[in-house]
Amino acid sequence: MRLDAFVSRFGRFSRSESRRIIRSNGVSLNGVLTNNPSEVVDETDTVIVDGRPLEAFWNVYIALNKPEGYVCSRERSEGRSVFELIDANFSADLSTGGRLDKDATGLLILSNDGKFIHEVISPRKLVEKEYLVETAKEITKKEISMISQGLFIGNNEFSKPTHVEQIDHFHMRIVLTEGRYHEVKRLVSASGNKVIQLHRRRIGSYCLSEELRPGDWQLLSENDRKKIT
Ligand code: URA
Repeated sequence: MRLDAFVSRFGRFSRSESRRIIRSNGVSLNGVLTNNPSEVVDETDTVIVDGRPLEAFWNVYIALNKPEGYVCSRERSEGRSVFELIDANFSADLSTGGRLDKDATGLLILSNDGKFIHEVISPRKLVEKEYLVETAKEITKKEISMISQGLFIGNNEFSKPTHVEQIDHFHMRIVLTEGRYHEVKRLVSASGNKVIQLHRRRIGSYCLSEELRPGDWQLLSENDRKKIT
């Protein structure tokens, strides 16, 4: 098989993209750099592009159980990053589908498929995000009613959850379709209470697996992806 066909098939690139990669940067074939797309290879040969095996270029879809204390940015000055928790082969091209605050936990979606990420975060797509909230003060009926009717949360922004439900004296469930900065915390604060713990358990109809411990992640199947968007 020709090298460009090999890179195209196993790296899931188009044939023309694969030729461009080989000609412009070169690929390592069994440890030797080559720029020749018509070089003959077989399936046992090792081809490395940009220091990475070809599987690293596939579209990946990941669900992470974000632990407390990790930030969703790559900025080292902000603290430990969620990207450190993901296999280095994948993590270079990943973006998060919406962020969680440093002190928040739970379901975080990561992918290198930009269209998919856009669908997860676009307010127009109305993808639900379900949060479990622990509050500093005992929750009142009035607060639940205020939050369910929607509130101005600052900066002239109005937030109205699609669902609000009191679970017990200090816990409520809030479902939003948008992902504004600190939206849940600002919403609860606008009702007169304060969030002390925040956990995202669902995006779309995909729920965080109870088997996934904080810091663990799993690849999503196509079926899982369809539940998200
Ligand atoms: N709303 C918040 O306030 N924080 C999050 O991390 C997510 C939603």
